[in-house]
Amino acid sequence: MERTNAIHEGKAKIIYATTDPNQVIMYFKDEATARNGEKRGTIQDKGIINNKISTYFFKLLKDRGIPNHYLGTPEPRDMLVKKIEMIPLEVVVRNIFAGSLAARFGKEEGTPLSMPIVEFYFKCDELNDPLINRYHAIALNIARLDELNEIEHLAFSINAILKEILNAKNVDLVDFKTEFGRDENGKIMLGDEISPDNCRFWDKDSKRKLDKDVFRHDLGSPEEAYQEMLRRLTE
Ligand code: UDP
Repeated sequence: MERTNAIHEGKAKIIYATTDPNQVIMYFKDEATARNGEKRGTIQDKGIINNKISTYFFKLLKDRGIPNHYLGTPEPRDMLVKKIEMIPLEVVVRNIFAGSLAARFGKEEGTPLSMPIVEFYFKCDELNDPLINRYHAIALNIARLDELNEIEHLAFSINAILKEILNAKNVDLVDFKTEFGRDENGKIMLGDEISPDNCRFWDKDSKRKLDKDVFRHDLGSPEEAYQEMLRRLTE
């Protein structure tokens, strides 16, 4: 599969067309941003690590029946994926209070939620990705009700699978962000990536952060945190 022209460049990845119109390549960059691009930096080899971690999770999710765009990992920074029509929603699942949820409700980071919750954010840099509900998503023609139901169902299933796997690696899944798209038949599929860039992973015992919060809040070496997460998953 030959990579051709770049069709989209985001903060952490570049999407390339390929010689097959139904397949694209996601190229994982080392650049890291936080607070919608306010803080910028580089995490050495992040692209390679995130591609490996995402490959691990997407293969596992496919085996467990979660439809997703993963097709292969031809190069250390390249993931070959099915071309799908992305829905501009950031779908966040949370198990433990942290980040913006802890701030919004005045809760201490680390307080468990009594049940997992899902949130929708409208993916729009100019508006700073506002938190929205189902009515907004439907009225703004972002997604239909049946699609939102399917997305929620998949998001909770993904949460259950990831929690089970991470439990065995002595890692708490605090929260994570996913994105979904539609295939050529309108079927909802998981897209994007699952990596320390968009999940909160904490060591179960020490509560040490093994994710992008290390970069966001200057808590030490993000390289070490990302490497440690990869080691836990693959050893
Ligand atoms: N997240 C993300 N991209 C964003 C915002 C959040 O991947 O643009 C992830 C983040 O890594 C965390 C979860 O979504 O795992 C919930 O993030 P939160 O709303 O707490 O926002 P933050 O505190 O990261 O700004």
